[in-house]
Amino acid sequence: MKSTKLPYPDQDEAAFNIEPVEVGLRKNRPRSKLLAEKQTGKRYLGGKNMNKFKNPVSAGQASRLILRHYFQALEQAVDSDVIIVGAGPSGLVCAFELGEKGYDVTLIDRHLVPGGGIWGGATSFNKVILQKDVDNILTEFGIPYQEDDQALVVSALTLASKLIFAASSHPKVKLFNLMTAEDIHCTEGKVDGVVIISSAIEVSGLHVDPMVLMSKAVLDATGHDAVIANLYSRRIPLQITKESFMNPLQGEEDVIRNTRMIAPGLFVAGMAATNISGGCRMGPIFGGMLLSGKKAAQLIAEYI
Ligand SMILES: Cc1cc2nc3c(=O)[nH]c(=O)nc-3n(C[C@H](O)[C@H](O)[C@H](O)COP(=O)(O)OP(=O)(O)OC[C@H]3O[C@@H](n4cnc5c(N)ncnc54)[C@H](O)[C@@H]3O)c2cc1C
Repeated sequence: MKSTKLPYPDQDEAAFNIEPVEVGLRKNRPRSKLLAEKQTGKRYLGGKNMNKFKNPVSAGQASRLILRHYFQALEQAVDSDVIIVGAGPSGLVCAFELGEKGYDVTLIDRHLVPGGGIWGGATSFNKVILQKDVDNILTEFGIPYQEDDQALVVSALTLASKLIFAASSHPKVKLFNLMTAEDIHCTEGKVDGVVIISSAIEVSGLHVDPMVLMSKAVLDATGHDAVIANLYSRRIPLQITKESFMNPLQGEEDVIRNTRMIAPGLFVAGMAATNISGGCRMGPIFGGMLLSGKKAAQLIAEYI
């Protein structure tokens, strides 16, 4: 035995060069016991062959599979029914709902980790508050909640990860992170595509051409910046009114009311809708965002 203690319970014993002590394993042993054994290194976690792969994967094989599957998905995304820019709460809910309705959805987000503003809760306190009205949506996404003082309390981390999981694992939704929308494609006044570039290229400012993904409708769910709406308005001016003061009671309804089609083929949801329509800021309350995503899905489905 070269080492007897793992510093972190979840780390792979192979990395610490621990030789397994073979023991007979009873089925259904408690997880706490398994972890304890792993930490002490006194018993081997999973039977005598646990440190060997029956089906090892080579580096070349891994590279080939990544390229094949990534570009297969990206090629399919060249023509989809709907492109959603921004995988925050409104974009994620909309993507899932449209997927459920049978539409092919391409969802892009410029960040490494989708989820937008959910993760940090308010001021980094990672709890999210929602109205009781949206308990059915939380149940639909399998998100556990607590009811307190006539409101619902959810872990921001659970909310973000469950929404990301629901959208990214849906067979009709293709989610591309690290992909930035930098312009829109328009045919005869109708928005029908998004110009994309790798976020790494965008951030580094390299002089590289983007490429275009086409769709029947585009949703701007880019949050405060309302990127797509502003790109459109640079060419064909829209009446844009910046968000108003903080007022959660009004703002939560504003965000749903302002979820709409703002130009042929171009829809807005979430803070993007608030930020171009003069809606009130609403603080760390997320029911409006989820309902905005649902409403956007319904409007888009009616449009295409
Ligand atoms: C400064 C600040 C103020 C806030 N104020 C409020 C508030 O008043 N009320 C409130 O409810 N919440 C506020 N929030 C929290 C949070 O933004 C929202 O509640 C909520 O997350 C908005 O959801 P959303 O769906 O509109 O999009 P967001 O959660 O904002 O997510 C937008 C997503 O779009 C992606 N994106 C942006 N541009 C591009 C692009 N060009 N290409 C691809 N992807 C893109 C981003 O990476 C992000 O993941 C604030 C957050 C910040 C940072």
